[in-house]
Amino acid sequence: NPRNALNFSGGPGALPENVLREVQQAIVEVPEVGLSVLGISHRSDWFAAVVAELEDNIRSLLGVGRDYHVLFLQGGATQQFSMVPMSLLPPDGEPADYLHTGYWSGKVLPAARREGPIRVAWSGERDGFSHLPSDDTLALNESAPYLHYVSNETVEGLQFHRVLGQDNVLRICDMSSDFLSRPVDAQRFGLIYAHAQKNIGPAGVTVVVVRDDLLENAPEDLPDFLDYRSQARAHSILNTPPVFSIYVVLLVTRWLMHDVGGLAAMDAINRQKAERLYGVLDASDGFFRGHAAERDRSLMNVAFNLPDEALEQRFLADAEAAGLSGLKGHRAIGGLRASIYNAVTLDAVEQLADFMDQFRGAQR
Ligand code: PMP
Repeated sequence: NPRNALNFSGGPGALPENVLREVQQAIVEVPEVGLSVLGISHRSDWFAAVVAELEDNIRSLLGVGRDYHVLFLQGGATQQFSMVPMSLLPPDGEPADYLHTGYWSGKVLPAARREGPIRVAWSGERDGFSHLPSDDTLALNESAPYLHYVSNETVEGLQFHRVLGQDNVLRICDMSSDFLSRPVDAQRFGLIYAHAQKNIGPAGVTVVVVRDDLLENAPEDLPDFLDYRSQARAHSILNTPPVFSIYVVLLVTRWLMHDVGGLAAMDAINRQKAERLYGVLDASDGFFRGHAAERDRSLMNVAFNLPDEALEQRFLADAEAAGLSGLKGHRAIGGLRASIYNAVTLDAVEQLADFMDQFRGAQR
């Protein structure tokens, strides 16, 4: 029954059902305004209040103060691949350190190289991006202008379970696929970016959390739109922002704070979900083969293979028929992937786990 499908898509991902119901109402009419959210001016007092509340909610969830700007930008996480070095990478200084840990951190490299000197401080390419570096295999440059890494590799299902680098080198992190899924020591980062379409909303908006003092030395000749300072000054209303997407992200932060009970509570649920699925993998006598090394397993994306491709095709078809959607792996590595972002319930994960056990049983 496709109307009741459970969404395990890598992104855009599932959103909380309560939020979807509020959105449904808001599309017809935002009660306090009397207009559809799709037709409210971005210059209205209502929208200014939406942005102000959302900035505060994100600061509060991350535990940072007003020395961090919270920006809502367009262009996806991809635009940040360029915007970060445009602002923060001196064109003729030391290279910035970049970690190449999977598909998405690989996409960052050519974009950054176009803006200035970078160095790939570690690459997992030779091992097929099956694991992440341990601290003793990382030789980082202590005088790099910054260290850039991706906290969760969405395609391979690899996640760092610690903060990387040294406190005296600026940290910049793409948290697109695990943003607000667990508590994060945000004050140890100079800049965090994350698009909305995994854990916190629809596509169209990307959140950037950036420490104020970083912006002092940015070049003066950047286009306004690509200059964090102009965006900060305008509270992200430099031009017409994606009002709808930003509003949905606000509703998701309210859900996280008031219904879920904060990021520690969210993390506890996400751990239970991931343990359930990895448990199925580990108890399958090698039938389900996890892509990631055990230590680096992602709590968001569980990437795995079956013994052969024909079986994977059958798995996908049967899953689809059972109302389990979005399990096809990323085209870059194939195989299967269950994405279990914040809004995927433990109940949905139980249903997937049961389906996997039954599918394996049926092959004997
Ligand atoms: N970074 C990560 C970790 C991602 O998972 C993705 C997309 N799934 C991107 C960046 C690119 O994001 P966008 O499509 O918003 O540009």
